[in-house]
Amino acid sequence: MKLKDTWIYTKKFYQMVQKDHPRILIYVIIGGILKGFIPYISLYYSSRILDFLLRSDIEAAKTQIMILLLATFLLSCIEKACYQGMVVIADASDYTVWKQTAHKAYIMEYEEFEKTETMDKIRRAKNGSNGSGGIASQIDSSYTLVGNFSSIVCSLIFTIQLLIQSSYSSNFLFYTLLLFIAFILFMAIENIMQNRLAKIEVTMQHDNEHMNSLSNYIISSALNVQNGKDIRLYRMKELINHWYFVFNKKINRVFKKYANTAGKYYGIIAFFMQLFTAFVYIYVGLSVLEGNISIGDVLLYTGSITRMSTTFNEAISGYNQLAYRFEYLGNFEEFINSKNMHYDGTLPIEKRDDYQYEFEFKNVSFKYPDTEDYVLKNINLKLKVNQRLAIVGQNGAGKTTLIKLLCRLYEPSAGEILLNGINIEKYDYKEYTDIFSVVFQDFKLFPLPLDENIAGSSDVDENKCLEVLERVSMKEKVLSWPNRQHTRLYKDLGDGVNISGGEAQKIAIARALYKDAPFVIMDEPTAALDPLAEAEIYENLNQLVDNKTAIFISHRMSSCKFCDEIIVFENGEIIQKGTHESLLEEDGLYQQLWNAQAQYYV
Ligand code: ADP
Repeated sequence: MKLKDTWIYTKKFYQMVQKDHPRILIYVIIGGILKGFIPYISLYYSSRILDFLLRSDIEAAKTQIMILLLATFLLSCIEKACYQGMVVIADASDYTVWKQTAHKAYIMEYEEFEKTETMDKIRRAKNGSNGSGGIASQIDSSYTLVGNFSSIVCSLIFTIQLLIQSSYSSNFLFYTLLLFIAFILFMAIENIMQNRLAKIEVTMQHDNEHMNSLSNYIISSALNVQNGKDIRLYRMKELINHWYFVFNKKINRVFKKYANTAGKYYGIIAFFMQLFTAFVYIYVGLSVLEGNISIGDVLLYTGSITRMSTTFNEAISGYNQLAYRFEYLGNFEEFINSKNMHYDGTLPIEKRDDYQYEFEFKNVSFKYPDTEDYVLKNINLKLKVNQRLAIVGQNGAGKTTLIKLLCRLYEPSAGEILLNGINIEKYDYKEYTDIFSVVFQDFKLFPLPLDENIAGSSDVDENKCLEVLERVSMKEKVLSWPNRQHTRLYKDLGDGVNISGGEAQKIAIARALYKDAPFVIMDEPTAALDPLAEAEIYENLNQLVDNKTAIFISHRMSSCKFCDEIIVFENGEIIQKGTHESLLEEDGLYQQLWNAQAQYYV
């Protein structure tokens, strides 16, 4: 990254952090300057103290010691306070970035969100790559860099002072020139080496990015309690170890290559640094012999010149790290500023008490991003107001995909979906999603209090919560829990109750009932329930959708009988449509599926 770009990013970065933490710049600038400056106080006064001691002027030496101790103590206190202030803000900024990333992930189109490249972007935006540390490290590095600059300025002041003093003797000009050439040469070599190092380091970090996230995923999966049963019973420990080993072998291979080359470059830098230090000692030693400077000055000047070369070293590598991490800030910016939706409409959803919401699929076809085959093919379908529609068909036929399109999680590849005659894209997205209560097959409950799970908020209407729990026959059970409906689910975030698959499903249905939206969609909502519980739930659902429009997807054909219309899906196409009675009479898939299950209904 070019210097100009790095500067632009630094400005943007600090503007972003300053919004929430206005003091950050004060901490970084004052703390950074002091960090670079304090060691020179020590160098300066030590050299003075030595000179006074050599002249047996004990009183003056004592005064210098007092000044040194006091100044170092005071300035170090201020520096440490700035540093701690900076650290607190740095950690909080990580959280700000994470919060913004999570918010963006929530408002962006699901279709985009699900893509591997978006997931990679989110990971980069959040963490940076492993080892590069993210936003907190970025602030920490810029603090160190300010310290480096302040240190270089101090050492330049002393070096110029030394050169001026040494040039009083004319024969010393030659040595000064030599030292100057040695310094320029050393800096040039170091700059070349550091740039090469930065390039191979960036390449190494890029190459390992994806593998790092895979290996992190494997570790977190192995430590996830919910995976524990399968891992134990299917003896998957070895398999997980195997994959961890495979990913890490690739990471290590890239790292080893980097380490070998980096080792050589660091070796060369160290060699030249020692050589330069030797030059400095000879120069300063000769200067003492010439009588240009005092013995105490040896401490000061050798200290400050060698410190200058090491600080240069640190500053170049610090700058490269900083510039590299800004690439990640670039990713964060790109992610945050990317479009939320391909098309986000502005039309409000008409709030209707009569629930007059009518949907129509017009020649809708769909294939998932990055796949070839169409999952839905030319679907034409009308969902009339108050209608109860059942969708049946074998696994993988495209039933859930149809629902995902209806809920605007994906956009049709061809054709359009209309709500009351208007393309659903034209509606405001949030208002649009408000009209659906959906229970997906792979619904998710969170390790939070049960009532908050049901309300989807910490603002819970407790009566309504208990009422929906009663409708799914969970009220009694919940009231027996230690904190009744306020009891936390699962144990991920501390004490909570573990629930069965069937109970989880009932709670998911209760959540949909609580939302009380005009359009109800149940995708295999009772797969984990026993037949009695299922029958009870369906009876309740029937009452619930009284004046609403509803879609039921179920593999149990008997539970669809009460629906006004049944459509049969096969390979992404609607192959049959009708009522239960009419479809039973047709010689087709519905009849086959019904007959296959009929023996269990007796
Ligand atoms: P059903 O609900 O009828 O069982 P789905 O609609 O879930 O079927 O899936 C239809 C097809 O789409 C399946 O072949 C499935 O593999 C594929 N599919 C589902 N989700 C995705 C996805 N996110 N990306 C790619 N293909 C998918």
